[in-house]
Amino acid sequence: MVANKTNGEVRVGVFVCDCGLNIAGAVDCGAVTEYAEALPDVICAVRNKYTCADPGQNEIKDAIRQHKLNRVVVASCTPRQHEPTFRQCVREAGLNPYLMEMANLREHCSWVHPGEWEAATQKAKDLVSSAVARARLLQPQEELTVPVTTSTLVIGGGVAGIEAALEIADAGHQVVLVEKEPSIGGIMAQLDKTYPTMDCSI
Ligand code: SF4
Repeated sequence: MVANKTNGEVRVGVFVCDCGLNIAGAVDCGAVTEYAEALPDVICAVRNKYTCADPGQNEIKDAIRQHKLNRVVVASCTPRQHEPTFRQCVREAGLNPYLMEMANLREHCSWVHPGEWEAATQKAKDLVSSAVARARLLQPQEELTVPVTTSTLVIGGGVAGIEAALEIADAGHQVVLVEKEPSIGGIMAQLDKTYPTMDCSI
């Protein structure tokens, strides 16, 4: 970890994940970390072997406290996998969870550019640079709880509409099924046999 400057109010920490060899096997994570350290408002950049594991998360929390970070960029995998993990991680260190941004170095870089060491490393740097630029503009967000109605309108009484209505009803919600024709069933209702049972379709 290298602390390199303290200019301005925005204080970004960047955490670059090896994901074992998933990322580090195709991207020079050391070079990406060094590059991140030089970006505007980046206070520290850290390379982790597995950022989502407890030691990696603890490094994020320690850095937030030690360097008074107010933005965090995790350069690792898709947000679909670990965005909730890292939001919770920064929350536990006292940071608003929406001040965390991710760069996808795995699905968007190392996995799709195997054997392209230099190009993949350059792309990873660009992804990190973009994430840092976005992180610098992030604002804290508050989560609201609002009442919602759980009753559901399903439009169309064909097979898909009927199935959807039944699934929702089985989940315990009120369903209104709307069909423009006099009867439900759609195209299926017009077939006299269906494969593989050759039964009547309705
Ligand atoms: S944070 Fe994502 S990229 Fe890093 S070790 Fe965990 S799964 Fe792999």
